[in-house]
Amino acid sequence: MLRSRELAVNYSQHIPRKMLRKIHGDVADVYVLLFIDMSKKILIAEDEQDLIRLLKYNLEKEGFRVSSVTDGSLVLAEIRREEPALLILDVMLPGMDGLEICRQMRRHDKFGGIPILMLTARSGEADRVVGLEIGADDYVTKPFSMRELIARVRALLRRHEPVQQQNSVQRGSLVIDPSAHAVSVAGKQVELSALEFRLLLHLASNPGLVFSRDQLLDRVWGNDRSVTPRSVDVYIRRVREKIETEPQQPAFLQTVHGVGYRFAARAD
Ligand code: CA
Repeated sequence: MLRSRELAVNYSQHIPRKMLRKIHGDVADVYVLLFIDMSKKILIAEDEQDLIRLLKYNLEKEGFRVSSVTDGSLVLAEIRREEPALLILDVMLPGMDGLEICRQMRRHDKFGGIPILMLTARSGEADRVVGLEIGADDYVTKPFSMRELIARVRALLRRHEPVQQQNSVQRGSLVIDPSAHAVSVAGKQVELSALEFRLLLHLASNPGLVFSRDQLLDRVWGNDRSVTPRSVDVYIRRVREKIETEPQQPAFLQTVHGVGYRFAARAD
């Protein structure tokens, strides 16, 4: 059976904090299954078996689920079946070459948005130019370092994360505008750091709901594990100092003793 603790370290950036703590606390294999399923799927289209193995090993170590296809003519069918979050596409493939696959994917409604990372030969400058023109998102030149490849995979996945359109939130005299990343109190602009902003937006979007420090860490800080539940208190204090008329008697960000924090249900 998998050694959970070891896997937890490898997969840690993909696991919500609370779950991670449980894994580190008492080793429970059920969580392993849970978090493996949460990871993103990557399809490798490549005909060199050694390279597939190497890519697979390294990507899985990073927490991705990986499948592969060696024949170019089967790539589109595989994409239909697997619906990967990203395609690593070798240009030189038997069956159908990578450029043609790229072209066909970009014409496709459903798969048109899947990011493509091309693998090209060192001498394949023309391929790179054409590839980027017809819709590949990025490329690496063989031979490449796994570190570089993984960095590019991550960057592409980040870039393609769906952007959520959020309307501005108004609570009494407080207005939060997510698209402009702006906060004002009674018409006066307030400067918040990115994290302060996310914290305030999360609480204000759920007025009246109480969040524990752990929940806030999961939802606002995400995978940054350098923070502790006490950091939440520090940030709450900073935000209060910026938005509250009387930070000691907060009208917006209220402490719920023994539980956590909430944004006032009614803020007038
Ligand atoms: Ca090849």
